Amino acid sequence: MVLAGGSGSRMKSGEAKQYMPLAGKPILWYSLEALERSQIIDDCILVAGGGSRGDGRDAEEYVRREILERYGFTKVRAIVPGGSERCWSVANALEAYGKMQKDGPEAGDNGYIFIHDSARPFLTEEILERTYEGVRRFHACVAAMPSKDTVKLADEQGFAASTPDRNLVWTIQTPQVFDAALIMEAYARLREQYRPGQGGAAGRPPVTDDAGVVERYTAARVRLVEGSYQNIKITTPEDLAVAEAFLKGGAG
Ligand code: C5P
Repeated sequence: MVLAGGSGSRMKSGEAKQYMPLAGKPILWYSLEALERSQIIDDCILVAGGGSRGDGRDAEEYVRREILERYGFTKVRAIVPGGSERCWSVANALEAYGKMQKDGPEAGDNGYIFIHDSARPFLTEEILERTYEGVRRFHACVAAMPSKDTVKLADEQGFAASTPDRNLVWTIQTPQVFDAALIMEAYARLREQYRPGQGGAAGRPPVTDDAGVVERYTAARVRLVEGSYQNIKITTPEDLAVAEAFLKGGAG
C-alpha cells in the first residue's frame, strides 16, 4: 500500500506535500512508478486525502484523474481515504485489503503487505527485493540505515539524558513489510485500544511506524533490512531541495 494521506503541515505549503512537484512530477508519482515497474508487487491500495486538512473525495478524484489515469498506472485496486493519523490511514487500507480478500478469488491472509510512504520518492527495486527477502525469512521487516549521527535521548527539560551506542542506532524508513495475517492482527489489537476520530490521547496512539504496532501488539521480531541513504522522506522544504539534487545528479 502507498500512503498519501495527511496534509504535510511541516512543509509549510498550501498543498499536501505528496502532490507537490519534484522535477515536474508529483512526489507520489515516484513511488507509484517504482511499484508499477516492480516484479514483486502485484496490487496496490492507495491512501489519499483525509488528515487534518483535505477532503477525501476531492483527493480521490484528483489522484485518479491527475495521477493514475494521466500516467497510466495499472496496479492500484482501491483508493481509500486517509485518517487523522498515519496509523489510521494504514488501518483504513488494511480494512480495504481485508474486504478485498474476503470478496476476492483468493480468500485468506496469505500474502505479504508492503507499506510505503509516498513522501519517500526514491524507492528502488533493490530495496523492494531486499525487503521481500526479509519478510519471507523473518515475517516482518523494515528498510533502515545505520545512523550517521550520534543520537541522544533528551529529558523533558531539553538536557541529554542518555546516549545509545551508535553502532546499534538505525534510522527507519519504508517500505515496512509484513506477513498479511501478522499486520492485520497487530492493527486489530491497536483498534481495540485506540479509536480513530476520538479526541485526545484515545485517538492518537503512541506509534509512528507499522513496525512499532507489530512490536507492541505481537510477539514477532522485526528485522532491519538495508534501505538506502537516498531513500529520504520529504518532510520540510530543505528535503525537497535535496531530492531535486539527487535527481539532477542522475541518481534515484
Ligand atoms: O507526516 P509524515 O511525514 O509522517 O507522513 C509520512 C507518510 O504518511 C506520508 O507519505 C503521508 O502521506 C502519510 N500520512 C497518511 N495519513 C496521515 C499522515 C501521514 O497517509 N494522517
